[in-house]
Amino acid sequence: MTASSIPASSLRGHGARLTIDLAALGENWRRLVDAAGSETAAVVKADAYGCGIPRVAPALWAAGCRTFFVAHLSEAAAARAALPPEAVIYVLNGFPPGSAGAYRALDVRPVLGSREEIAEWAQAGEGAPAALHVDTGMNRLGLGPDEALALAGGPLLSRVAPALLMSHLVSAEVPGDPITARQAGSFARLRAAFPGVPASLANSSGVFLGESVRHDLARPGYALYGGNPTPGRPNPMRPVVRLEAEIAQIREVGPGETAGYNARWTAPGPRRLATLSLGYADGFPRAASNRGEALVGGVRCPFVGVVSMDLVILDVTEVPVEALRRGAPAVLIGDALDLDTVGRNAGTIGYEILTGLGSRYDRRHLDEAGHRAPG
Ligand SMILES: *Cc1c(COP(=O)(O)O)cnc(C)c1O
Repeated sequence: MTASSIPASSLRGHGARLTIDLAALGENWRRLVDAAGSETAAVVKADAYGCGIPRVAPALWAAGCRTFFVAHLSEAAAARAALPPEAVIYVLNGFPPGSAGAYRALDVRPVLGSREEIAEWAQAGEGAPAALHVDTGMNRLGLGPDEALALAGGPLLSRVAPALLMSHLVSAEVPGDPITARQAGSFARLRAAFPGVPASLANSSGVFLGESVRHDLARPGYALYGGNPTPGRPNPMRPVVRLEAEIAQIREVGPGETAGYNARWTAPGPRRLATLSLGYADGFPRAASNRGEALVGGVRCPFVGVVSMDLVILDVTEVPVEALRRGAPAVLIGDALDLDTVGRNAGTIGYEILTGLGSRYDRRHLDEAGHRAPG
């Protein structure tokens, strides 16, 4: 993706650039539709996993997506503002007491997960559609399966219009985990008790688990943004996010010299170091200290020492000197450093890397033609 590599000093005063490829995002949604074999929604919570609801939601709509999930009402407001009025928007985290009017005003749907929520929506929701969330194993949000079965066809539910019956998988990214089969069985029994109500079980990884978790609506998030929904196997998604920083300075150190705060790295011999203008204040985790990597001139370069607030130090000794100059780009996410690798290098998962990416970057969205999207 040379279109986004950084020409010298093009960062307009930022330390690093985050490029979000909206064409790849749309392509990923279409790939997920093919894999799911059902209607496919998009999860755009957490500001579209850090990629920006105002750009991401319309790009997904343009690709054909019609149903969106967020976590909070404020995110639903951002999605509503970015989408045509026909877009269906669900708010996953239920709804706080007294907020039904706000949901109605935005024309967004709560995901109801308790008797109390159902009763409040029945009263204040004026018969507007909502989803029912049944907890089949997470013990986090949702009605218990027995509770849901007891409510099915009863008077309380006759006063709300369940437009969707959903549950969430505990271990979708671990193929063969027996809990998935238990959840799938439990969910199949539940859906039989709610005839005519569309059902939704699969997240990104669930889309690749086949028939047993396939229902009427898939709910992928992470895979849309390029995360690998099939860990341990090749990533069927296109990369969407690219993070590049400029080299601020290059220096030579001798054996025994240290680098960074608290001298947590010692040069084993003569080494060449490059300092990048990016740090944990940008959302790049400090946990990547002494174990993260960046690509300079295509060469994997290890982080040395601790990640500072605004700076990272790389060992660039293996990089051909022609590729090393002040202002040269280093890739933190992209090419060989996919989201999942970056997550692993920081002792976490790609999801956390993605959703943590800060607001300090020069952010660019690329449109279908690979050009900088206007705005
Ligand atoms: C976040 C979330 C999703 C999307 O999960 P991914 O693993 O990102 O695809 C789907 N359903 C629920 C209930 C969620 O909270």
